[in-house]
Amino acid sequence: MTCRFAYRRYRLPFKAPVRTAHGPWTTREGVLLRLEAEDGKIGWGEAAPVPGFGTETVDEIEAACRSLGERLESDSKIAGPTCFRNALAAAQEYLHEESGKPSEALPVAALLPAGHAALAAVVPRLEAGFRTFKWKVGVGDQGDEMALLDDLSAKLPEGARLRLDANGAWDRRRAERWLEICADRPVEFVEQPAPRGNDDLLRGLAADFPTPIALDESLAGDGDIARWLDSGWPGVFVVKPALIAEVAGALARLSAARSAVVFSSALETAVGARAALRSAFAWAGPPRALGFGVWPLFADARFDGPSAAPFLRWEDVRRIDPEAAWNAAN
Ligand code: MG
Repeated sequence: MTCRFAYRRYRLPFKAPVRTAHGPWTTREGVLLRLEAEDGKIGWGEAAPVPGFGTETVDEIEAACRSLGERLESDSKIAGPTCFRNALAAAQEYLHEESGKPSEALPVAALLPAGHAALAAVVPRLEAGFRTFKWKVGVGDQGDEMALLDDLSAKLPEGARLRLDANGAWDRRRAERWLEICADRPVEFVEQPAPRGNDDLLRGLAADFPTPIALDESLAGDGDIARWLDSGWPGVFVVKPALIAEVAGALARLSAARSAVVFSSALETAVGARAALRSAFAWAGPPRALGFGVWPLFADARFDGPSAAPFLRWEDVRRIDPEAAWNAAN
């Protein structure tokens, strides 16, 4: 089936700057893709590279879109950079999406602010029903943060758990001290304790401590996932579907290896998030809390997905209207 292809580049300020290892991130840039099939069906995709993850630039995506022209077969595989291919595949899949998915619900992890503010922030989120919390560490003084971990742990009821995300901030000595104390705290995993590129250190930490280690920045694109799988990585894979060219293939390999997978937002708009969440709902492995408790995220709410709640249902995902974001991106 032949489709008409169109794209729109966007530049969207976040409601508040996002803290990253490379400094504050104020504006999300990416490209929305639209396919219109002969039968009138419309498919949507979003190419949303994360600066610093090293996939491609938005200029490269725009160039790939321009060279595609205005017509495209609905099942053709197109070469190009990672996020661009992801977006195109998502739009093609969208054309075949079935409406009758089970109305299952998946838990969502609540984001806590870094530092002391986490203590006050956790209370209303617990009351709302969240049981998994993500807390950024490696931001302030280590001693203060370790004391805060105890205070935070004391507030959690039975069964609630923390995900600590260090964003690669630690060296070996710091990572080891943290993992020692995490062993008897309610910590589900420690995410990216050492920077991308420190594979031996990450493998050593995973072998030496009981708290699982999760890879995030170490996974940028399909090649990284394949490499860590081949090396028998025993920890968690934080999968940002937006940063994978062939999501279905990568997830099939992760599933075959019975890997622990946490689906996570790349701070894309609702268009890309809808496609990413479709993968999360199709995942057959044990469900883990989704890393999609990010909305409201943008200064212009028309680009947001559903506001963070303790559970997300497939109906909530299907209710996301990519056309509204497309029109707003005009
Ligand atoms: Mg992370």
